[in-house]
Amino acid sequence: MSWGVIGTWRMALEGIMEAEKLLKDGKSSLDAIEVAVKMVEDCPEYRSVGYGGLPNRDCEIELDAAFMDGDTFSIGAVGSIKDFKNPISIARKLMDERYNIFLVGQGAERYAHTMGFQRTNMLTDYSKEEWKKKKSEIKLDKLKAYDGHDTVGIVGLDRNGKMAVATSTSGLFMKRSGRIGDSPLSGSGFYADSEIGAASATGVGEDIMKGCISYEIVRLMEEGLHPQEAAEKAVNKLNQKLISKRGEAKDISVVCMNNKGEWGVATNINKFSFVVATEAEEPTVYIASFSDGKTTYVKATQEWIDTHTE
Ligand code: ASP
Repeated sequence: MSWGVIGTWRMALEGIMEAEKLLKDGKSSLDAIEVAVKMVEDCPEYRSVGYGGLPNRDCEIELDAAFMDGDTFSIGAVGSIKDFKNPISIARKLMDERYNIFLVGQGAERYAHTMGFQRTNMLTDYSKEEWKKKKSEIKLDKLKAYDGHDTVGIVGLDRNGKMAVATSTSGLFMKRSGRIGDSPLSGSGFYADSEIGAASATGVGEDIMKGCISYEIVRLMEEGLHPQEAAEKAVNKLNQKLISKRGEAKDISVVCMNNKGEWGVATNINKFSFVVATEAEEPTVYIASFSDGKTTYVKATQEWIDTHTE
């Protein structure tokens, strides 16, 4: 059977290179995407996920993460969790539970502690400096508080046909403490059904969750749409609805894959990078853009890859 993996943003590249090895080797998509997301969480240069992420307005790193198994529909999710090294592994652990599968704040931290997960201060000096800079820019009215975000969302298909999806993020820069975005919300930030396919979203959670976009993409694939058509149809529809109902739509970008390893991407912004590896394709970084209601994409150059993290 064929295998494949697709992830949001250039930051997914190194993790997807590891996931590729595992999937080629016949390992489970759950293991492959966990390894990939952990690599992003552990890297302080990837500034919107895990260690060294983007602080909230109180200069704390509050993280959201989720995991879904497309064979069993098991879901595990954490929201606003502080001071734990790999939120994605805590989310995966929660998939074992029948109840209490989505924990937030102190409850999530108590669970992680009980399960033996490692406590770590996730705030780096660099994050603190960025927070200070942003704080003064906001005072000077130069920037909107929420400029700065990005989620790593990775979809995997293994040789046994199991599909899984995982997301991890620090959410919006300067968010209010306790704010949770779309990333840990089933159907919005992620969805997976091995009989059909899986999807993940990134962008402004407050808008993404208005369209339950990951579920919608999987539903469209079930109707027979190719992942590319499903992704574009879902993003365009939500984008237009938001504009007509509210006058504006913020950033929405998605990646998806069906259970044959065919993939799709869509965005409503100018530059959305993503990474794909399949049986037929080495790990490749693409840059997608949106114009006239269409998403198009090109391969990123090595120079671009070397000089960008998102
Ligand atoms: N969707 C994330 C959130 O709203 C951020 C992002 O993906 O850019 O928390």
